[in-house]
Amino acid sequence: MSVRSGIGWDSHRLEAGRRLILGGIELPYERGLAGHSDGDVLTHAVMDALLGAAGCNDIGQWFPDTDPRYKDADSIALLRLLVAEMEARGIRPTHCDTTVLMEQPKLSPHREAIRESLAGGLKLPFDAVNVKASTGEGMGFVGRGEGVAALAIVTVDAA
Ligand code: MG
Repeated sequence: MSVRSGIGWDSHRLEAGRRLILGGIELPYERGLAGHSDGDVLTHAVMDALLGAAGCNDIGQWFPDTDPRYKDADSIALLRLLVAEMEARGIRPTHCDTTVLMEQPKLSPHREAIRESLAGGLKLPFDAVNVKASTGEGMGFVGRGEGVAALAIVTVDAA
């Protein structure tokens, strides 16, 4: 058994007429995340971190944004699919830490729900998944409220 870690990063643009979904939880806000799927930037970062730990390339290769099957896809469902694929390869997540970079709205009222949702997707207990929030302090695309970014580290046991 070996312990491995992977990192993930993603960013999506904020647009009117879209839902704001982070870690599978919808946050009430006037804009949402653009994307071929549901735009769930946090779940995408987690998926890339898992693939990194597994040495299995990246989310774009597994779920191409040109594939109509993934149009408006539920990203937590895709994460579940990936966890099952990794399980079949003897790879099991043990821990996940994340940071969401977002100017508005406040993430903190939704933090517990997001942790619960990601934990469900990763088949981990609640306390093995952490979600931190940060802002851009007015700088860059996050600070100007043009988009949201997310970082993740996933640790796995590999058989
Ligand atoms: Mg993405």
